[in-house]
Amino acid sequence: MKEENCIFCKIASGEIPSKTIYEDNEFRVILDISPASKGHALIIPKEHYADIYELPEDMAGHAMILAKKLAAHMTAALKCDGFNIVQNNGEVAGQTVFHFHMHLIPRYQEDGNQDKLCWNHLELSQEELEDICEKLQQ
Ligand code: 5GP
Ligand code: ZN
Repeated sequence: MKEENCIFCKIASGEIPSKTIYEDNEFRVILDISPASKGHALIIPKEHYADIYELPEDMAGHAMILAKKLAAHMTAALKCDGFNIVQNNGEVAGQTVFHFHMHLIPRYQEDGNQDKLCWNHLELSQEELEDICEKLQQ
């Protein structure tokens, strides 16, 4: 399924041209237009899924396998020193394009970014940790 007015549906189908580095039946992988580093790429499914919640499990598996293969390929080709794989869901989590995608971000010693993609660290009590743990155990 495609979604009208979805930029990544149009890019994935080839309707809008992109710098494509890989393509198969399920995915197109393109260079990000506003990259965090040299080689920053996006794995985009050709079908429209807004986010991880909508993405079928088999597609999630295929996307992760592709990310692993491309991480190795890109690291060798770009001679980067490390690699981040990032995937945002929901506005509050930084998602700006609501068509599932995975960021492949090559990292270099001197790439001008924080070493770690950053967040604030909370200090939680043992009780709070136990409460969260109980909620999450299945
Ligand atoms: P998000 O914030 O949703 O996780 O990531 C969206 C990413 O898509 C951003 O890094 C942004 O630079 C990239 N992006 C948005 N529009 C386009 C576009 O038209 N072409 C390409 N190649 N990348 C885009
Ligand atoms: Zn879409």
